[in-house]
Amino acid sequence: MKLIDIGINLTNRQFSDDIEEVIGYALKQEVDKMIFTGTSVHNSKASLLIAKKYPGTLYATAGIHPHEAKGWNAAATKALQQLLEHKEVVAVGECGLDFDRDFSPRNIQEQCFAAQVQLACEVQKPLFLHERAAFGKFNEVIAPYRDLLPPAVVHCFTGTLQEARQYLDNGFYLGFTGAVSDTRRFAHLESVLKYVPLDRMMIETDAPFMLSKNVPSSELFPEKPRRNEPGFLKYVVRSIAAQKGIRPEQVAEASTQNAKAFFGF
Ligand SMILES: [Zn+2]
Repeated sequence: MKLIDIGINLTNRQFSDDIEEVIGYALKQEVDKMIFTGTSVHNSKASLLIAKKYPGTLYATAGIHPHEAKGWNAAATKALQQLLEHKEVVAVGECGLDFDRDFSPRNIQEQCFAAQVQLACEVQKPLFLHERAAFGKFNEVIAPYRDLLPPAVVHCFTGTLQEARQYLDNGFYLGFTGAVSDTRRFAHLESVLKYVPLDRMMIETDAPFMLSKNVPSSELFPEKPRRNEPGFLKYVVRSIAAQKGIRPEQVAEASTQNAKAFFGF
């Protein structure tokens, strides 16, 4: 069961003292390839440096998260463009809109997002998208670029069935995290998972966040029991399989195939 984790926040300080061990554990758990999510210019650079140490296994994205949009300017876009010249940098993002937390002013988020969508169209590398409580505006920002868009994935999808349907109709992929294991808080995701065809989904841990509910406590890191790791990706696979009523191997095979084609591995 070879897996690809398309979203890991490995530069988060929860990993600062044991990155090598976390990667080693994930490899043992058959997570064959891992993509580190860039959320700022600084951390996209840091993700690239780690990725370069494990050629063919680790990759990075380059982007500015909506939370970080307040620090965005033209020089930042230029810096992302330079990062995207590296072969290990496989996508633009994460970028998008987050009107849930509103850590950056909404109009700045929109400008920062549009600049990165345009950049992705120029360099023709896939888009790694983040949308929270901003569905309408998000689609509005993307609409003018529709004809030029590279492949796009909306990561950590927790939206409604109707939103999922719209994203699929747009041609986007959906990324699912351990949120799917939280069948109380995200009960509506069962109908989403049943609806989304296997050939349009990818999987991610979004570690150190979004810890799956079904990870046994014996596997958690004793000193950081709330920390999610790429090595726990199989629990996302199991949740999806259970709710779709199929075998975990089918989810693993399809999501790996999708990620390979999407990111060009
Ligand atoms: Zn995100």
